[in-house]
Amino acid sequence: MNIIEILLHNFANHDRTRKPDNRVPFPTDFRGKLEHNATDCTLCGTCVYVCSPVAIEIEKDEENGFWEYDGGRCTFCGRCVNSCPTGALSFSKQSAPIANTRAQEMTHHYVAYQHCSRCGALILPLPFNALSKLYHSDEAAQKASEYHQLCERCRNRVHSETIKTSITGPKATGPKA
Ligand code: SF4
Ligand code: SF4
Repeated sequence: MNIIEILLHNFANHDRTRKPDNRVPFPTDFRGKLEHNATDCTLCGTCVYVCSPVAIEIEKDEENGFWEYDGGRCTFCGRCVNSCPTGALSFSKQSAPIANTRAQEMTHHYVAYQHCSRCGALILPLPFNALSKLYHSDEAAQKASEYHQLCERCRNRVHSETIKTSITGPKATGPKA
């Protein structure tokens, strides 16, 4: 085919440039920008543990927790997403943005502690949404939430009281006749 024939052939065909609304769809397992949903995060540290290039860190002080992600170190291996017990991590269908500075590669999320429902002490958060995912049902999560809202000390007290009651029976409420 000579050049004239090639040109005629090309002019005779429709253009094949894709329009913006006709883009090639992302594959279902596309690993785009890493998303962290702070409201589902329990600061358990699993993502820190499985991340080989140390792209995730968790800082904790007396009253708050901070989840930090360094996109410059991330290899998009997906281990953190697959290991997160509450589903707080996911890959978006957007490519990770191109950063001009190190600061732009960093993501910092504040994760609030919650109060023990019995004594008020600050404890690591376990939001209902996360609990529901862990128990695979809202109903089971609802039943378990009372226990999970207690600090370790109060849980031990509840256990002790339950054992004591099962041995001695419930406390008498008034004077004996
Ligand atoms: S993102 Fe997931 S794995 Fe990481 S600390 Fe939060 S709950 Fe744990
Ligand atoms: S995708 Fe892999 S490298 Fe990136 S933060 Fe998660 S575990 Fe680390």
